[in-house]
Amino acid sequence: MPPVSPDVSVVRSDLLAWYDANARRLAWRAPPGAARTEPYRVWLSEVMLQQTTTPHATPYFLNFTARWPTVSDLAAAEDGEVMAAWAGLGYYARARNLLACARAVAGEHGGIFPDTEAALLALPGVGAYTAAAVAAIAFDRAANVVDGNVERVMARLFAVETPVPAARPELKRLAAQFVTDERPGDWAQALMDLGATVCRPKSPLCGSCPVSGQCLGLASGAPDRYPVKAKKAARPHRLGVVYVIFDAQGRVALERRPDKGLLGGMMGLPTGDWTTASPPDRPPVAGDWREAGAVEHVFTHFSLTLHVRTATIPADEDAYLWTPLEQARDALPTVFAKALDRAGAPDLL
Ligand code: SF4
Repeated sequence: MPPVSPDVSVVRSDLLAWYDANARRLAWRAPPGAARTEPYRVWLSEVMLQQTTTPHATPYFLNFTARWPTVSDLAAAEDGEVMAAWAGLGYYARARNLLACARAVAGEHGGIFPDTEAALLALPGVGAYTAAAVAAIAFDRAANVVDGNVERVMARLFAVETPVPAARPELKRLAAQFVTDERPGDWAQALMDLGATVCRPKSPLCGSCPVSGQCLGLASGAPDRYPVKAKKAARPHRLGVVYVIFDAQGRVALERRPDKGLLGGMMGLPTGDWTTASPPDRPPVAGDWREAGAVEHVFTHFSLTLHVRTATIPADEDAYLWTPLEQARDALPTVFAKALDRAGAPDLL
């Protein structure tokens, strides 16, 4: 017989025992029961993981912590260097918030992260999730750490019929009842690991799940129906033109984008407005412009077809940062790196 409702203490003890034996070894994580992970590493990893997968975030995390081993080192870094190191991780406003937060910790807290959820939440760019994760994992505070993985596990465990996102407060309340003063950091990470490796978005591995005996979603016969999804509006599509300008030495014209707006503060290629109708095509310099096809990119709120034009011009234009090709590729966010690759080699003058 399936349970009427999951037994909180049984779920807790079964999941923590599973975590002790199966915790993922991650670049930023101390093993279960070991000394706690430094708050800087927890914070940095959690910010990175909000927009990407663990395998994608890992080299970025290793690079950041090698270049800036402490939060004070990061606070002292040049904005441009940090933005370039973030290129490819997406959601660039987070990189700016990352720096603002590092500078607040270095400037206002002597380089030491505050150790309560409330004080962490007061730092710039630190939201409820990150504050709870750092409080639980770095400081073993009884904080309710709820991300998409945890929401999914709760929705399945309790067979929640309310669709997301409306169900979020309910899922958070359900998750809160499992949080106690006993091993709160391990509990948060155990739930994350269950969601990431067993209670996966598609095809959950219920046969290997330590809490399957308590799961109402599994008892319903269709656990992957949860969380129930609300119908989504289609993502709008935009069009634009981007200009890849080489000089006679094969260097690329880059420009820093305005701080506000999409990809704010990042390096970019010259481009016009991205619109839903015909995009304006006004090359920024005179030249023998060639069509180089188009690239596709998907942002959170819209998808984009970017037509690529390229030209090689004889003299430097002072308006641009002339950058060697490989360095330019590394410094550009993904959408522009795709356009640069599409442009191919510079034309010979
Ligand atoms: Fe998720 Fe299946 Fe475990 Fe339920 S039994 S928590 S659906 S993996």
